[in-house]
Amino acid sequence: MGTARKARAAVVRKTGAPWTIEDVEVAAPREDEVLVRMVGTGICHTDIACRTGFPVPMPIVLGHEGAGVIEEVGAKVTGLKAGDHVVLSFDSCGKCHNCEQHQPAYCFDFYPRNLAGMRSADGSATVTEAGLPLNAVFFCQSSFATYAIARAVNTIRIDKDLPLEIMGPLGCGIQTGAGAAVNALGVKAGDSLAIFGGGAVGLSAMLGARAVNAGTVIVVEPNIARGKLALELGATHVINPKEITDVLAEIKRLCGGVNYAIDTTGIPAVMGVAIEALLPRGMLGLLGVPPPDATLPGNLFSMLVRGVGARYIVEGDSDPQEFIPRMIGWYKAGKFPFDRLVKKFPFDQINEAAHASETGEVIKPVLVF
Ligand SMILES: [Zn+2]
Ligand SMILES: [Zn+2]
Repeated sequence: MGTARKARAAVVRKTGAPWTIEDVEVAAPREDEVLVRMVGTGICHTDIACRTGFPVPMPIVLGHEGAGVIEEVGAKVTGLKAGDHVVLSFDSCGKCHNCEQHQPAYCFDFYPRNLAGMRSADGSATVTEAGLPLNAVFFCQSSFATYAIARAVNTIRIDKDLPLEIMGPLGCGIQTGAGAAVNALGVKAGDSLAIFGGGAVGLSAMLGARAVNAGTVIVVEPNIARGKLALELGATHVINPKEITDVLAEIKRLCGGVNYAIDTTGIPAVMGVAIEALLPRGMLGLLGVPPPDATLPGNLFSMLVRGVGARYIVEGDSDPQEFIPRMIGWYKAGKFPFDRLVKKFPFDQINEAAHASETGEVIKPVLVF
């Protein structure tokens, strides 16, 4: 079998510490794995959350929106070969009830496969430093490194004429937003949608809704530059809650209410507005991370009489092997300009890139190697 590779990885030593670029070794791929040379990787909010407190083992190599070129495939991998351009997504078991129902984002084995820091099969490490194991296998990739180990199930081959550097975010943030609208809520031509929060996930939801010819698409976002971009990319209306304090009244004034809503803010009061903005039989998709003690902020009687609901959505209900090619099809047809959300940074500038995302200055930072 193959050999381990010397690599450089961005390591978080302990919760809250900055990323430091360190020399590491990435293991040779096992029989069901692939070794990918990273070309570009997005930074997702989950990476930032894990650096600053979401419980993951430390020290760790994060990164889960990788794109690159396969250098080596394990003996039992079919359908992939060295030289293929690939986007990496999340891992799933393929065998549990939800995997069998084509809902791999709800795999019963999701946590150990994506967040435990080691191979779920035997607890072994894919990344070592001076012979000692580092936590990695983050979303079965740990793409903040020049090489990554992934499995065939979370490795999606793409055409070589696509801009590989910026394709990685399709594997998480962009599929989370677009999939929430199109897969989970089932937004169709003519449907109305209100999106609360115009960051990478919210604007991806807007792009997904546009790609399927939704009707009214409202983005509620206080950042003026983001609001402007939302209008440019196809939102029919933008509401700035700093200028218009009664957002609910404004949505009703614009269109009488919406079939669907998506919250990316995690702010309970905002979710309460989103629930009230729904037309009968409406559904609110929840994507934002709430405070740990928050409860659902809706009046149950008001929900009952309209027959509306709210549900959390993971990874846009996407099966990455199907949905990433679908988004790429929209992109090639000029209907899904996700590249307009991206700003590139050199890999070495990972801390600056993450900071630019946290301040709202950049929507989707992508590190290039
Ligand atoms: Zn499963
Ligand atoms: Zn993510």
